[in-house]
Amino acid sequence: MKRIEFKYHPNLYSDEILIHEEGVCNCCGRKVPEYIGTAYSPEDTDCICLSCIHDGSAAEKLNAEFVQFAEDVSDPEKRDELFKRTPGYMSWQGENWLACCDDYCAYLGTVGIRELQELGIKDEVLRDYAAQVPSYPLDVVEEYLYKDGDLCGYLFRCLHCGRYRIYVDAS
Ligand SMILES: [Zn+2]
Ligand SMILES: [Zn+2]
Repeated sequence: MKRIEFKYHPNLYSDEILIHEEGVCNCCGRKVPEYIGTAYSPEDTDCICLSCIHDGSAAEKLNAEFVQFAEDVSDPEKRDELFKRTPGYMSWQGENWLACCDDYCAYLGTVGIRELQELGIKDEVLRDYAAQVPSYPLDVVEEYLYKDGDLCGYLFRCLHCGRYRIYVDAS
């Protein structure tokens, strides 16, 4: 089966938001081998297949969005693609999708300080992070930020200029 790709969520298949179990899609009614369980919808939803997210039918039929918050981007079409046609990501407090160059960034996955060091981007990313409102103090982040830890980093990369950014939340 061909994998459905999402521009803003290139590593979806390794994100825990994707449930690798058989289920029956709330939107198309088909039996599917993997699905998303999290949607922001007034309907009762617990299983939405990637195809129904990708083509917008789940957003339309179930009045659903899959991302909680995001930074501002001026193009409403991009907003629709992110909120209505892109699965969210697993996090403690819900998504907060970062933006750059007036477009949403690609979400790459969870990170801690160690992963940022390995990528050689710790200093640039923390400098950028310190300007976010609200943000945790940098000494706290440097000491306690672990991949999938109680204080967790979410790594994004701009699709245009290639800049890395993180969002941080806590359990
Ligand atoms: Zn479906
Ligand atoms: Zn950029």
